[in-house]
Amino acid sequence: SKIIIAIDGFSSTGKSTVAKQLAKHLGYIYVDSGAMYRAVTLFAMQNNFVDDSHFDIEGLVTALHNVSIRFKFNESLDFSEVYLNDKNVEKEIRTLEVSNFVSQVSTIPEVRYQLVKQQQLMGKYKGIVMDGRDIGTVVFPDAELKIFMTASAETKAKRRYQELVERGDEVEYDEVLKNVQERDYIDSHREDSPLVKAKDAIEIDNSNMTIQEQFDKILQLVNK
Ligand code: C5P
Repeated sequence: SKIIIAIDGFSSTGKSTVAKQLAKHLGYIYVDSGAMYRAVTLFAMQNNFVDDSHFDIEGLVTALHNVSIRFKFNESLDFSEVYLNDKNVEKEIRTLEVSNFVSQVSTIPEVRYQLVKQQQLMGKYKGIVMDGRDIGTVVFPDAELKIFMTASAETKAKRRYQELVERGDEVEYDEVLKNVQERDYIDSHREDSPLVKAKDAIEIDNSNMTIQEQFDKILQLVNK
């Protein structure tokens, strides 16, 4: 029978790569919960609630009812693009600029409350693979399979840098490393549902694993 697979872990540990492959292989829906936090962050930036010199939390919270986040799926449901108020923002949410504010925006309890509720509703479409930071702890505490991905700081920064360069973004390796470290710090120290490994999650350190090896390992756990 179809299950819920929660894949949590630190930034740029390759969660989404393996999650997508898994969904495709199993005929499951793939949901990128981080895309939702990124879309709210883009909204905050576009409406001047956040920039390098200020962060208007109250303003953002008050405007939250104007934020609609939707995924448009392909036919087989293993691929989707995220829409902010009916505009496709899939590309815009991946910039380093959004990455630099997203963890701060993600500390706001009202933001988490709204997105978690929406994520839980998607859980009725089983099977589902969802990746994020609090999927196994908060969104789906009863998920049948929980994975917690880790990797060395250097591995993470290299992967993220590679990804941005491939997209054509002009970034320095050092600023990418700094962003990955800062996000991991904020994500694991926020008061409201911090990034922690669920008790019943299986930890996979993929610093020295190929994508195929990670895929095989998780599939083995699914079939157990
Ligand atoms: O997964 P991704 O790196 O795109 O997530 C971007 C940010 O969104 C994370 O660094 C974190 O601050 C936030 N996030 C979260 N909870 C989730 C998914 C993402 O707080 N479930």
